[in-house]
Amino acid sequence: MIAGSALYQTAVELNRRAAICIPEDARLAVGQLCQRETHSLSRYVLEQIMENYQVAVAEQRPMCADTGLPRFYAKVGNEAVVEGGMVGLEEAVRRATAEATAAIPIRPNRVHPLSRKDQNNNVGVHAPTVDYSFEPGVNWLELTVVHKGGLFGGDYRMLFPADGVAGLKRFLLDSISEFFRRGMSCQPLVVGVGIGGTKDVCVRLAKEAACLRIVGDRNPDPDIATLEEELLELGNSTGFGVMGLPGDGAILDVHIEIAYTHTGGMPIAIQHFCFAHRRATARIGADNSIEYRGNPCWFTPFYRRESISFQPA
Ligand code: SF4
Repeated sequence: MIAGSALYQTAVELNRRAAICIPEDARLAVGQLCQRETHSLSRYVLEQIMENYQVAVAEQRPMCADTGLPRFYAKVGNEAVVEGGMVGLEEAVRRATAEATAAIPIRPNRVHPLSRKDQNNNVGVHAPTVDYSFEPGVNWLELTVVHKGGLFGGDYRMLFPADGVAGLKRFLLDSISEFFRRGMSCQPLVVGVGIGGTKDVCVRLAKEAACLRIVGDRNPDPDIATLEEELLELGNSTGFGVMGLPGDGAILDVHIEIAYTHTGGMPIAIQHFCFAHRRATARIGADNSIEYRGNPCWFTPFYRRESISFQPA
């Protein structure tokens, strides 16, 4: 059985890792962007970002002063047994969020939306959120922490089937222009694109695509993978560089996820995940072993299944 204490300790440590240590895939991508950048000011800012990554780890302090909003993603094995069930899991991650807020420390950003009441622990109504997915035939549980802001870089548009890929590209360019020209979503960043579903599913998929796939990962559908590469090239051909400065590009990668949708529409959502690319994952085994992992592997074949019954490859 997966113990509540293992969940709690892992969730505290994941918050610490996410806040302080930017994952290797994002760090390498920022370094490669810096090497390619020919505009001196953009290149200087990229160098400062990379130095900031190193200082955060050396001093064990959060990489950005705005530590975003902690949120959790739980991939639960179908055979996993969790002490206290999912109610126990939710209590463990709430206690861990409060503990991590004080111990790391991270900024207590979460407030009541009207009264602005702040409990000073990043806990409150629907805070932190836990999103679930399931995995057949395994008894472990994977927990991922993401510290993402949410003020800027999120966009949604209801397109129609006739708008097609051209409409999607126009929306991407509109969204980039809106946020990049003022440096509002803190480029360089990863762009997640959700296509289809209903509005809420579309927005959720865009966020998961931005936050839960590593830089360089391609969608297993070859047509979608090709579109990811096309959008990456298009997004980096606008003349925008880091933080709204002129430059050779500010997008580290584009990840697309789709969901079957209403025959009359083609909803599109876009989410930016900034250079404070805060994400950390661990797998907790049935024996309470803890393995920290660089890749959240959130989008499994089961999660993307198309048929009624799941047929493993
Ligand atoms: S968008 Fe990212 S880098 Fe910019 S202030 Fe927020 S967390 Fe920090």
